[in-house]
Amino acid sequence: MKRSIERVAKFENLAKAYLSSHRHGTPAFVRMLPTDRCNLDCAYCWQRDNASADMSLEFFQAHVEKAKELSVGLMTFLGGEPMIWDPLPEAISFCTRHHILTDLTTNGTILTPDTVNILGRVGLDYLNISVDGAIATAVTRKTSIFRPGLMDALKEARIKHHMHARINSVIYKNNFEEIQALMEFSRKWDIQLSLGFIVPPLDPVHRSARDIYFMPGDEALLRTIVDTILRKKRARYPIIDPNSYFENIFKFIRREKFWECNYPTRYGWINVTPTGHIRSCTKKMDELDFRFLDLDLKQLKRVRAILKERVQSCNVDCYSNCAYDSYFYTKNKGELLKKVLRRLGLKRGQGLKRGQAAF
Ligand code: SF4
Ligand code: SF4
Repeated sequence: MKRSIERVAKFENLAKAYLSSHRHGTPAFVRMLPTDRCNLDCAYCWQRDNASADMSLEFFQAHVEKAKELSVGLMTFLGGEPMIWDPLPEAISFCTRHHILTDLTTNGTILTPDTVNILGRVGLDYLNISVDGAIATAVTRKTSIFRPGLMDALKEARIKHHMHARINSVIYKNNFEEIQALMEFSRKWDIQLSLGFIVPPLDPVHRSARDIYFMPGDEALLRTIVDTILRKKRARYPIIDPNSYFENIFKFIRREKFWECNYPTRYGWINVTPTGHIRSCTKKMDELDFRFLDLDLKQLKRVRAILKERVQSCNVDCYSNCAYDSYFYTKNKGELLKKVLRRLGLKRGQGLKRGQAAF
């Protein structure tokens, strides 16, 4: 009962945040990066700095107070790997007490039935688990959801705590067999799956020498991958990215400019680094000369102008599925509605029994 009342309060707050972002330009959503450290070393990583210092809990709490002042409705925890940041459960609980929805993206290494239960108890609303396959490779060791008992724990957390989980995976040049196993897994468990093509890091310093990136000349392989995914989507596998994301990969490898990233501007997303500065995008390791705690409406306007300008230079080199989806569904509201209805229809079609949870 307490959890239901909390959720109503959170969604009321989200509605206010959305209206305020349209009326006054406040950020409805904030991405907190409490640590840039990570316990993995994926070959394609864009966003890790193991030498950096973490945010303290007190500093984080000051950011939540400020977020309330700025009418924030949803706080996403990212990194680095946010689950290696010790104060995470207390931080989520603090957001819950302030009626801010929370979302956590994790590489899943620390997810166990116990930690899933802790996250649910403190009020985490959305859990986004990065998984690239069932088998660890030299490129990535993100395999957590295949761990025995984890999916049952996630299902229980859905029923007990209303915590929704989904999977996010990277398609690189040599892992499509693993991605196919993941598609089957997502179908079996009816858990949403978001698939993104690997993209070389913007900063060449972070680029791996490995042969993992798609290049001109890989069209035949990509055609097989795209056709397979679209076939699975037609068969109602719970893959959430729009068809055009997959179809347009051919334009991306030709470096055509065909989409407009609205990540830095839509709903006023703001990214906050462990030092409390604004980061222009979670895919970059930069820090702007603005601190979240100092933001007011005037500063927000200046930040947004800088973000709008910066996205012009990175857009053509980036094909983030999250950012593309945001662009696509903003422009195609009808498609967004269809996606939601399809999802509901899928669950009905599978005849979920009372007490049985889909994600
Ligand atoms: S889990 Fe994420 S942050 Fe960590 S190394 Fe892999 S891509 Fe980078
Ligand atoms: S195009 Fe968008 S998502 Fe990609 S790096 Fe630039 S700002 Fe970030």
